Amino acid sequence: MRLSRYFLPILRETPKEAEIVSHRLMLRAGMIRQEAAGIYAWLPLGLRVLQKVGQIVREEMDRAGAIELLMPTLQLADLWRETGRYEAYGPEMLRIKDRHQRELLYGPTNEDMITEIFRAYVRSYRDLPKILYHIQWKFRDEQRPRFGVMRGREFLMKDAYSFDFDEASARLSYQRMFVAYLRIFARMGLRAIPMRAETGPIGGDLSHEFIILAETGESAVFCHADVLNLPIPPETTDYDGDLSSIIQEWTGLYAATEDVHDKARFERETPEGKRIHTRGIEVGQVFYFGEKYSKPMQALITGPDGVERPFQGGSYGVGVSRLVGALIEANHDENGIIWPEAVAPFKIGLANLKVGDAATDKACADLYAAFEKAGVEVLYDDTDDRPGGKFAKLDLIGLPYQVIVGPKGLAEGKVEVKTRATGARESLDLAEAIARLA
Ligand code: ATP
Ligand code: MG
Ligand code: MG
Ligand code: MG
Repeated sequence: MRLSRYFLPILRETPKEAEIVSHRLMLRAGMIRQEAAGIYAWLPLGLRVLQKVGQIVREEMDRAGAIELLMPTLQLADLWRETGRYEAYGPEMLRIKDRHQRELLYGPTNEDMITEIFRAYVRSYRDLPKILYHIQWKFRDEQRPRFGVMRGREFLMKDAYSFDFDEASARLSYQRMFVAYLRIFARMGLRAIPMRAETGPIGGDLSHEFIILAETGESAVFCHADVLNLPIPPETTDYDGDLSSIIQEWTGLYAATEDVHDKARFERETPEGKRIHTRGIEVGQVFYFGEKYSKPMQALITGPDGVERPFQGGSYGVGVSRLVGALIEANHDENGIIWPEAVAPFKIGLANLKVGDAATDKACADLYAAFEKAGVEVLYDDTDDRPGGKFAKLDLIGLPYQVIVGPKGLAEGKVEVKTRATGARESLDLAEAIARLA
């Protein structure tokens, strides 16, 4: 992409309304624009990151055997009346009427709707287990939308739903999603810790929140320091095999959010030098809730004995848009964002320090063509901005590598490659630079 043709509205001033660094940097780097409280337009650079985060989530869901579909954002109130949640949900739910005075709502979550879909088609235990998911916008009329996309009102969530015939099998589905979650966050370079958690309005008796430790997080959390070093299950993990040893390892050490924190147990199980008490950002949550939706909605499955029973359900959310903010909280310095390669909007920023100089233009064009040909995403700053402005801009938007091309270096046949994360600079031939990064 040539910057001269792109849409990257960088802000010079630090926006006053932004309280935390990720929100400030997303506004300054031209990733998002607030359209109303907690409602954002995703500008091109932000959208690229949002899509990469979503794609990692999708790949790991698919690997774990979940199947993607897409449900609408608007739902009928009557559906939610079947489970009693229309009344129970309270002011976080956005309620709407259409021209025929039919009551609708903008979905804050989808347990009721997926149960409706499931009961329309699936009758036999032979068709189970199944896990279905979608990546879709949600609306929750949060009391205090803040911190940019971290607590928006409209936000992008991946939500998966599991359907099993009995509790033992439902616990296996829960384990699969648990393991997939460990991999999702690790692939983004984040260490998310599964912590015992309250189930809230989703309901049920078993739940873990996946939490990234951060001072700016909204929940207080307590955990054993060693959970920070546990191994992440590999790509080759067999999701049809026995996952219980992974689950045991990850749930064996104390880790809990403040809602369910048990001080005596924490102190009993965790040596003093290993006790972490800090704050965290919830990036995902998994629930097992059994018959909570299938029973009131009469979503019945016939077993091998010919008897009908409600299916055993669970649900599994990931805050896709919140993750973009959380990633910046975990990866930045005083100059801007430092994207992990897996979610970077472009891998390389190519800076032409003297646009109009024939040799510099030619070297940049050759590099640009070589990177494009290799399928490497590159943002080519071909504008007539001053070199200092280009450096600041590239540091701010945080692309993993900068390739800096100017007449001085080219006189010796060299370009400079800067690694954003370390600041390390190398002087390389064009061919070396291409081989290194393509
Ligand atoms: P929170 O405790 O932050 O309000 P929640 O527990 O209400 O979140 P869940 O119902 O568990 O949220 O939804 C699944 C995921 O969706 C959360 O783990 C979080 O990452 C994300 N999420 C929830 N609310 C928001 C929001 N207002 N803005 C952005 N992401 C959100
Ligand atoms: Mg909430
Ligand atoms: Mg929560
Ligand atoms: Mg939650």
